[in-house]
Amino acid sequence: MDILQQLGIELENHGACSGPGGWSTTVKAGKLDSINPATEEVIASVYQASESDYENVTEKSIEAFKEWRMIPAPKRGEMVRLMAEELRKNKDNLGSLVSLEMGKIKAEGDGEVQEMIDIADFAVGLSRQLYGLTMHSERYLHRMYEQWHPLGPIGVITAFNFPVAVWSWNAFIAAVCGDTVIWKPSSSTPLCGIAVQHICNHVLEKNGYPHIFSLVIGSGKTIGERLIKDRRIPLVSFTGSSPIGQRIGKVVGERLGSTILELGGNNAIIVDESADFKLAIPAIVFGAVGTAGQRCTSTRRVFIHKSQFDKVASMLIDAYQQVNIGNPMDGGVLMGPLVNQATVETYLIALDRLKEEGGEILCGGKVLDHPGYFVEPTIAKAENHFPLVQEETFAPILYLIEYESIDGAIRMHNDVPQGLSSSMFTTDLINAEKFLSHKGSDCGIANINIGTSGAEIGGAFGGEKDTGGGREAGSDAWKAYMRRQTNTINWSHEMPLAQGIKFGDFSD
Ligand code: NAD
Repeated sequence: MDILQQLGIELENHGACSGPGGWSTTVKAGKLDSINPATEEVIASVYQASESDYENVTEKSIEAFKEWRMIPAPKRGEMVRLMAEELRKNKDNLGSLVSLEMGKIKAEGDGEVQEMIDIADFAVGLSRQLYGLTMHSERYLHRMYEQWHPLGPIGVITAFNFPVAVWSWNAFIAAVCGDTVIWKPSSSTPLCGIAVQHICNHVLEKNGYPHIFSLVIGSGKTIGERLIKDRRIPLVSFTGSSPIGQRIGKVVGERLGSTILELGGNNAIIVDESADFKLAIPAIVFGAVGTAGQRCTSTRRVFIHKSQFDKVASMLIDAYQQVNIGNPMDGGVLMGPLVNQATVETYLIALDRLKEEGGEILCGGKVLDHPGYFVEPTIAKAENHFPLVQEETFAPILYLIEYESIDGAIRMHNDVPQGLSSSMFTTDLINAEKFLSHKGSDCGIANINIGTSGAEIGGAFGGEKDTGGGREAGSDAWKAYMRRQTNTINWSHEMPLAQGIKFGDFSD
């Protein structure tokens, strides 16, 4: 297959484990098939990382860190700039691979690569702005300041649904901060991991720098557990479901390591009586149907004022009829498949539960009868307190919920365990400000007249409550990848002791 060849991936028997010393050749951890969710065919097979591969990669990553941390940050930024250039050249192929392996439509696959380029550009600028504060010492002739040091080899564990962008949000920031990165991608998307490693490590190799990016492909239970328990990894950045994130928080916390946890969402949009439907309807459809409802920021609940409920519901149902479902690589297709058969089962179980709990399916609700994991995007009438509605179902199911007062809508909006992304469609200034105030949305992201999905990399990304509280990408999220040190320098000839304590005279 051309795309794979151009991205440096062999069709079979690819050593899956890369590290600063190159690609592994071990086979004892067995093969992993990468499946195209649109056809259920094997794209290629990959040997997983064995225990000894993990050990080898980690040792080499620690060695690479010792060298990389001493490279001036702007020079590290220059390497990331060159990686962004390579990503620009490979955008079409890598975007296609994302689409092929994960199932999101080609435009979204390309968009993911664009996010990698954007965060790389951000990281390049950041490499000259890793600022620490200077503060006034209370002691005479003393200088006091804070500086930021690299942390070490960082563990990055990613979910299937953003198989390349999420790694880059972490890795490019970590790289300019002086860290090295050991990446465990989802077992559903190993080829994306291999392709990205090839592209980025090639740049380092060409410029004589150590391979700061390593890859360990394998299951969460084996390689993932090994990584999170490893005391040599000071920070684990995890993107995935809340139950796994809770385990990672516990295991890494027990050894007093740091975590960045980017977990599940249950994102909602409030459409108030003053909302402009020309804006709201496409934003809701894009948020709920985009990536087949498999984004952490997918819109799952819509609160509609009861006076407008029927109108908004019927506009949404009309819009859903226009969603072209099909092979994500084909032009004109708006929704691809779910990632695997297990997710199709989850979708069907959720719809059964919805009916049991008193909900009503307004449109969709069926599995498509042809190869690939295709389902219809579904709209249902529901209530916020249904146990199902309280959960994140990683599939295109949208719950429409009626409300009577804006305060009641905000209360229900917040009354779920998760707290990632949120939005209100309104032209009412008071409602908008209320939603963004301390008594408004309790999420990490709160928007007005923009949907819940599609965050820009310039802001810090992440959410509260069961979403984990982590922040990555822009703003000052870089601080999580470094350790802070406070330095005080005495340039006097005196030794003032705290609390005015005086010892004898030690002069000769
Ligand atoms: P998942 O939790 O099943 O897996 C995520 C990663 O964790 C995979 O690489 C998996 O192999 C690994 N893993 C599993 N068990 C592990 C263990 N015990 N130790 C270490 N690693 C382990 O999630 P998924 O199905 O791949 O992705 C979907 C989920 O990710 C959704 O809940 C979605 O909301 C969430 N997500 C969140 C964000 C965010 O930024 N908040 C972004 C994307 C996805």
